[in-house]
Amino acid sequence: MLFMYTMNNGILKIALEKALSGEGLSLSEAHSMVNLPDSSIYELLSVTERVRRRHKGVEVNLCSIVNAKSGLCKEDCSFCAQSVKYPTGVKEYPFAEPDDIVRAAACAAENGAREFSIVTSGSRVEKEKDVEKLINALKKMKDGVSVERCASLGMLSRETLGELKKNGLQSYHHNLETSRSFFPKICSTHKYDADVEVVRIAKELGFYVCSGGLFGLGESWEDRVELCAALRELDVDSIPVNFLNPRPGTPMEGAATLAPIECLKIIALIRLMLPAKDIVVCGGRQVNLRDLQPLIFAAGASGMMIGDYLTTPGREPKDDLQMIKDLGLRPRA
Ligand code: SF4
Repeated sequence: MLFMYTMNNGILKIALEKALSGEGLSLSEAHSMVNLPDSSIYELLSVTERVRRRHKGVEVNLCSIVNAKSGLCKEDCSFCAQSVKYPTGVKEYPFAEPDDIVRAAACAAENGAREFSIVTSGSRVEKEKDVEKLINALKKMKDGVSVERCASLGMLSRETLGELKKNGLQSYHHNLETSRSFFPKICSTHKYDADVEVVRIAKELGFYVCSGGLFGLGESWEDRVELCAALRELDVDSIPVNFLNPRPGTPMEGAATLAPIECLKIIALIRLMLPAKDIVVCGGRQVNLRDLQPLIFAAGASGMMIGDYLTTPGREPKDDLQMIKDLGLRPRA
């Protein structure tokens, strides 16, 4: 017992020092951290709470999305209800009209979101008329809606990304989803490098880049550490954290959700490996964390998605705003 306490104390002390300084855990330290028993979770949270406060204060970044093109995707990501390969019954529709996107952005701003992302299904938005609609929506948002303009449009070319940036897009979102080692088990229709390349181009073009993952796909803790190392190497600005909400009809349909403490440990791992970055908890929050949702901030999250997810409903934004207030935190201005 004494040995276990000393061991926990050792790695937590290192974690606190290295994360407060902004350096973050090395790979071997990260492996020690993830081996801490679940019974150490509150000691771990006392470390990550201090680290989050040091780098992010008490402000929470709130973002919202609109599913601007749903279903009909030719890729085969095993968790996704929008792939044509799986009979999920998801709503299918082509690229939304600009006015509908702007309306959704205004509604998100009213609900308290600071950032708003236009998300589309498919490997990339490529039709010229869809890119024109996007540009039109971005211009209208710039003129009339007070939100940071983000988009998640797949593996866009450098040219299209540059064109969108010129027309008011500020952030680009593209998840790596999981580690390079585990990726072939969840997707066979494109290579991991294609995802890495988009993130790299978006960084080079000067976007604020959001790239993170989906947890609960059957990946190991080694995979999670490997993903964090890849995101650190790419120097992404924000890490969206999603937890699997198994969708009927997909190959992941029968998967178990993660235990809430495991979710908190995942967030803590990211905070301790990438201490100064934004960490935004997104899809699967309610289903996986249940009544432990307020602890995401002590675990290191500095933001969360409010409102509905891509294909599943979220909880009432007013409940999330109340939770933030009750925790003594406040939405980032
Ligand atoms: S995650 Fe994206 S690329 Fe993969 S199947 Fe779903 S919509 Fe297509």
